[in-house]
Amino acid sequence: MKRVLLAVAAAVGVVVIGFVGVMASAFMGNKPMPDGEELPGGARRVNDGYTSAYVLPLSNGKVALVDCGNDVEATALLAELKRRNLDASAVAAVFVTHGHPDHIGGCKKFPGAQVFVGEGDQHLVDGTAAANGPLPHVMGPQPKLALPDAHVVKEGQTIELPGLSARVFVIPGHTAGSAAYLVNGALFMGDSMGVSTKDTLRPAPWLFSDDQSQNVASLKRLGALLKPEEGTVKVIVPAHTGSATGLSVLSNFAG
Ligand SMILES: [Zn+2]
Repeated sequence: MKRVLLAVAAAVGVVVIGFVGVMASAFMGNKPMPDGEELPGGARRVNDGYTSAYVLPLSNGKVALVDCGNDVEATALLAELKRRNLDASAVAAVFVTHGHPDHIGGCKKFPGAQVFVGEGDQHLVDGTAAANGPLPHVMGPQPKLALPDAHVVKEGQTIELPGLSARVFVIPGHTAGSAAYLVNGALFMGDSMGVSTKDTLRPAPWLFSDDQSQNVASLKRLGALLKPEEGTVKVIVPAHTGSATGLSVLSNFAG
């Protein structure tokens, strides 16, 4: 009996150590996320714990968001709006990078916003399905965060808002409908990539991703697609790490 207990304890220990190791490898070596980072066009990074969302000003006094953070109360985003002398009603649109809960958690705090989601992730944001990544799959669908009225956007589409154009790139892999948005020279990547402390590219960690090899293929395709207009991409902005200047990080997979 004692031997069985020891074996069970050892097995649990191995699983725990393995899990901690995988989590650590996902977060160690990441370039820090500077809260309040100023981005082109008056956009600004808003940290919400371990993730970031972004506020982008429109020309009519309203704003758009990239993602809504993890906090269902959207405390950090509401504080940033207040800093701009705005409130939740000023949010006209949300560009969702993907349907994981730490990116749509606060969206219900902005009921007047049009929500845009990449083709393939509509079932995640409407709360009817779980993502296929190992950890998101265990967490299951997120009906309490459901955004059933989200507009599905496709590769090549441009979303036009007052004083702001957002080009959509669908880059499946982290999730089926992961999207990047190019706005005023800032390429918002969500979780599809991170930047290391050495300014090299890190694909999305497999533990959280539907298909890491598809994620890498999507990043390579996006880099090639944007290469002819390299000068238009000023900064690449992941959700869980700091940003990288210019397009070149998309072909720098060393880190
Ligand atoms: Zn994610």
